[in-house]
Amino acid sequence: MRKFISIFSLLLILALATAGGAFAQSDPEWTEPFPPFHIAGNLYYVGSKGLANYLITTPQGNILINSDLEANVPLIQASIEKLGFKFADTKILLISHAHWDHDAGSAKIKELTGASYIVMDADVSVVESGGKADFQYGNRPEFLYPPAKVDRVLHDGDEVRLGGAVLVAHLTAGHTKGCTTWSMRVTEGGKTYNVVIVGSPNVNPGYKLVHNNSYPQIAQDYQRMFDVLKSLPCDFFLGAHGGYFGLEEKYPHLKPGAANPFIDPDGYKKFVAEKEQEFRTELAKQTLAAK
Ligand SMILES: [Zn+2]
Repeated sequence: MRKFISIFSLLLILALATAGGAFAQSDPEWTEPFPPFHIAGNLYYVGSKGLANYLITTPQGNILINSDLEANVPLIQASIEKLGFKFADTKILLISHAHWDHDAGSAKIKELTGASYIVMDADVSVVESGGKADFQYGNRPEFLYPPAKVDRVLHDGDEVRLGGAVLVAHLTAGHTKGCTTWSMRVTEGGKTYNVVIVGSPNVNPGYKLVHNNSYPQIAQDYQRMFDVLKSLPCDFFLGAHGGYFGLEEKYPHLKPGAANPFIDPDGYKKFVAEKEQEFRTELAKQTLAAK
């Protein structure tokens, strides 16, 4: 019996280890539906539990941020329609950064809606090669996806305008070379608020911050990114993953008449400070190891 148990445990460990490897590419929460909801003004959440999508509605059509995995496209469409908008009215598609979990569905969304795909300069080659030009994951087949043609190339500080909506593209490179943090203003209850949608401040496992031949200025870019994030005025704190800003914790507190839980300037500052500390710790570790 004991022998049977130990073999069983071993098999269980193996199964979990295998699953762990798969989860690294595709967390089950990424494709788990989440209720779509109104954030403020003309800004709506249309993402899944683990992958964030935002819809900005205007009288001249809508702007969608992120396309996620290909499997998320029907979820995004359903969320948009649940809110009473039309998926076909998506005129502009933007992304947080050129990684599969935020841009693999772009070709599909372009095909279904005819949206114009607008991407930060240094991420263009990655999305147009379906991930092959990525400095870290380009030779990993499991991270590749259908290429999508970019219709307009953005540079740091450029604006995306549609029907009175204005989004500003802030280059916050490091996580990818063209990682983009979006800012905009929303008006709700007669007040105007600053919105920040963080691109990604994470140093992924395996990222080389020192002597990185495929991305020599990576460490300087990360530092510049933190300086940019610290300089942005933020009332509504949002980001490319719900986990950045506590989507699941805050959503139940969204009630008529109550303070909007997504207005969280202190949470934003704390998040940026923690991520900068993580980056500095990792950089110090890698610098020491490289000596
Ligand atoms: Zn990423």
